[in-house]
Amino acid sequence: MSIKLGCIADDFTGATDLANNLVRAGMRTVQTIGIPGEPLRGAADAAVVALKTRTLPAAEAVAQSLAALEWLRAQGAEQIYFKYCSTFDSTPAGNIGPVADALMTRLDTDFTIATPAFPDNKRTVFKGYLFAGDVLLNESGMQHHPLTPMTDPNLVRVLSAQTTRRVGLIDHAVVARGSQAIRARIQELKAQGVEIAIVDAVSNDDLLVLGPALAGMPLVTGGSGVAIGLPRNWGMTSASAQAGQPRMPGMQAVVAGSCSAATNGQVAAFIESGRPALALDPLRLAAGEDVVAQALAWADAHLGDGPVLIYSTAQPEQVRQAQGELGAARAGAMIEDAIARIATGLVERGVRQLIVAGGETSGAVVQALGLEQIAIGEQIDPGVPWCRGHAPAVHDDISIALKSGNFGARDFFLKAFD
Ligand code: ADP
Repeated sequence: MSIKLGCIADDFTGATDLANNLVRAGMRTVQTIGIPGEPLRGAADAAVVALKTRTLPAAEAVAQSLAALEWLRAQGAEQIYFKYCSTFDSTPAGNIGPVADALMTRLDTDFTIATPAFPDNKRTVFKGYLFAGDVLLNESGMQHHPLTPMTDPNLVRVLSAQTTRRVGLIDHAVVARGSQAIRARIQELKAQGVEIAIVDAVSNDDLLVLGPALAGMPLVTGGSGVAIGLPRNWGMTSASAQAGQPRMPGMQAVVAGSCSAATNGQVAAFIESGRPALALDPLRLAAGEDVVAQALAWADAHLGDGPVLIYSTAQPEQVRQAQGELGAARAGAMIEDAIARIATGLVERGVRQLIVAGGETSGAVVQALGLEQIAIGEQIDPGVPWCRGHAPAVHDDISIALKSGNFGARDFFLKAFD
């Protein structure tokens, strides 16, 4: 079976965010970890290839994105969606402009749109200016981002600096007049030589109006918000969404390597609930103790009674201390490796519902488990769905939720298993 929509995401948690929006808008969606070496497994309306290209040198980001495009076209994709961050994370060197350019050239198309608007997450675009919450992008903290500082909120200017193509604007006055008006404006811009148009959107209604105007456009680029208006172009609505991939029956566990504020609260809430929780000590790990075997022996005693939590999550002061003794990179890599081995051991013991907290941590766990394609299921909290994929080591499917550090309510770990 062929997919309708083929998506290329420039980072891993962004891919899950997009896939989650597509599922909620009515498309059966599979997310792949990198570019698969084989065809898509199972029936799907959309595929999201998760790359990690946001801050790579532009040439590498382009090469990987084009390879993803080829794979998606081989799966029958009728439309391509290039997904980037809702804060338009990029620099004058790229990678949004160069990747969009290359995809347009390969798709032999002379027009696309670009909008990071994601009103559910308080990212809105008006007159081409990007707002994060109530402030302009360059006042939101993003101006201090270590890798992609965003100092200009005007997306026409920002994107113009990254591409030789002419960038224009479909402003809110047009969007407010509806899909026909947007189509007419696109023709007008094309006649002026504009090849990429920033589109204003301040509400989900705006994105739903935009959707029909994008039908048949070979390439669409945006944050995850634009996705809510696309499934209807193929007659799919939220009512046609699968009730979600059924969760695998089996034992339940959480592994947490995130030290973000939200994860700290979630770990505390789990402990307060009286459920079994085990802290990992980076210093004992560094001293050569077999922390992984100890953790798995501990888990053996508790797994039969309900969900367990194994965590390295710590407050900033403790993190600084560990980093001071071990170095930040070494501490991080050691803990990621330990948590990945613990997660594998848990799955070998029969855990089939696994939550992983932390972006980098999730990457390590997914790789260790050998997950290549995951189907998106029910949403636990905004941006975090249950997923389901095949774990080769146990010849079985597992349900897995990959939680970015600052996502999720305080009771996330408990709620997820309900
Ligand atoms: P988040 O999504 O919250 O950023 P990540 O998993 O991406 O979480 O990043 C957390 C990083 O911190 C990982 O590299 C992890 O191994 C490391 N880490 C986890 N616990 C500790 C700790 N107690 N001390 C130092 N580093 C830690």
